[in-house]
Amino acid sequence: MSASQTYRSTRSKVDQAVSFEDAVMTGLAKDGGLFVPSQIPKLPSDFLEKWSDLSFEELAFNILRNFIAASEIPDADLKLLVEKSYSTFRTKDVTPLVKLDSHDNLYLLELFHGPTYAFKDVALQFVGNLFEYFLTRKNAAKKEGEQRDIITVVGATSGDTGSAAIYGLRNKKDVSVFILYPTGRISPIQELQMTTVLDDNIHTLSLKGTFDDCQDLVKQVFNDSKFNDKYHVGAINSINWARILAQITYYFHAYFQLVKQLPEAEKKNLKVKYVVPSGNFGDILAGFFATQLGLPVEELVIATNENDILDRFLNTGKYDKASTVKATFSPAMDICVSSNFERLLWYAIKATTAGGDDNKAGEILAQFMSDLSSKGIFEVAPETLAKIKSDFDSRMITNELTGATIKDTYASTSNHYILDPHTAVGIATAQKKMAVDPEAKSTKYIALSTAHPAKFSEVVNESLGGFEGYSFEDQVLPEEFKQLSNIPKKIKLVESTDLATIEAIIVEELSKEKKV
Ligand SMILES: *Cc1c(COP(=O)(O)O)cnc(C)c1O
Repeated sequence: MSASQTYRSTRSKVDQAVSFEDAVMTGLAKDGGLFVPSQIPKLPSDFLEKWSDLSFEELAFNILRNFIAASEIPDADLKLLVEKSYSTFRTKDVTPLVKLDSHDNLYLLELFHGPTYAFKDVALQFVGNLFEYFLTRKNAAKKEGEQRDIITVVGATSGDTGSAAIYGLRNKKDVSVFILYPTGRISPIQELQMTTVLDDNIHTLSLKGTFDDCQDLVKQVFNDSKFNDKYHVGAINSINWARILAQITYYFHAYFQLVKQLPEAEKKNLKVKYVVPSGNFGDILAGFFATQLGLPVEELVIATNENDILDRFLNTGKYDKASTVKATFSPAMDICVSSNFERLLWYAIKATTAGGDDNKAGEILAQFMSDLSSKGIFEVAPETLAKIKSDFDSRMITNELTGATIKDTYASTSNHYILDPHTAVGIATAQKKMAVDPEAKSTKYIALSTAHPAKFSEVVNESLGGFEGYSFEDQVLPEEFKQLSNIPKKIKLVESTDLATIEAIIVEELSKEKKV
């Protein structure tokens, strides 16, 4: 295995390389850190020409190949995994790039054409196939009657993660999925998307409690080492490296689509900025890896809602956890801390205060993370902040501006483009940036569109209800969503939120599935 294709923990003080398979199947390192590639390869200098006409699937294969050793997944198998993962998308381009004609130089990268209409599908369709691939291989080597290896995925959701995980993992051999959500606190469409999946291996648990209670329980299940050893608890949230990895592709794909759409004169000295609605920092982190591979990106712009820990960090160098989460119009970005930011910090610390030393970077970061959990805050050195700011910028967008942006975009585009509230946070950020960018005339902004507006009907209808001729049913709601309420539902209502109850339910369902 070559050095570039092993993984290490962001908190480790010694070099303990693990394989891609172990990094993906365990999710989190034993020391509580996140897995990062030991080295990031640099693509050959002619890749911009050579890759310019590749399909989404071909690009995905080339990028994945740089982070997964061929000894772990041979070329032919990797190709099949990629093809299978993106065959479920509704457009041939997988993630099409469209221009908003309300502005010069403003583009939207539509990431919502997967099975659940959210950007998380791009990664989770692949992760599901990957889990199945590794388990099938392990179990093929077992003797008759020997216990099969399984993975028991346990996750909490306030909306999009749950349905995207369910659609990624439904009907996968040796995989069982338990998704916990707070009763009555997710949107009706999102609940229907999850509970109408009837496959035996999918279990949705509606819990009497808050999203934080659900997340707490998931952490407790992970930390119960006896339970974890026995049932192989797996993670599908964006701490899982495979999710970040799968998202790198669309940064390249968007770049090449943009070049194709531009007149010849504008292709030279092209400057591209990506604007990304961010919560746990998984989506935009994939953009960082794209730049490290060699994609020429002028800037990555973090768009946050009023839960703005990232924007405050970029302004001060202090990572200061808020005491409560604010409920905003863009609920998938309502977070107190941004879990994947740890990965970026590791690289920035390594390049600055750790003098290029991996282990020293792990040591410094482990201390920061311990300060975060004991004091709720840590502060990085000025040179670490400067390093991050050389690649990133940020803006915070209020609820009010989010709604106004949905409205303005509808009014000012010739096709009455309808944004979902998360995407609106990105568009508002792009507009704020363009207004003060001295090179706005020659810079292309690509805003990532992370969800379909039908998933967030309340805000969208509130913003657009006043327009004559606007109709949610006709202009927004996909045919598939209209059918959902006619499909039978499978939900388990859980009255209590204690660990013993949840673990008992998991074991009971696994035994019904004949997995234990
Ligand atoms: C998950 C999600 C986000 C935030 O993505 P991160 O990777 O957590 O930063 C933004 N928008 C939508 C619609 C999402 O589902």
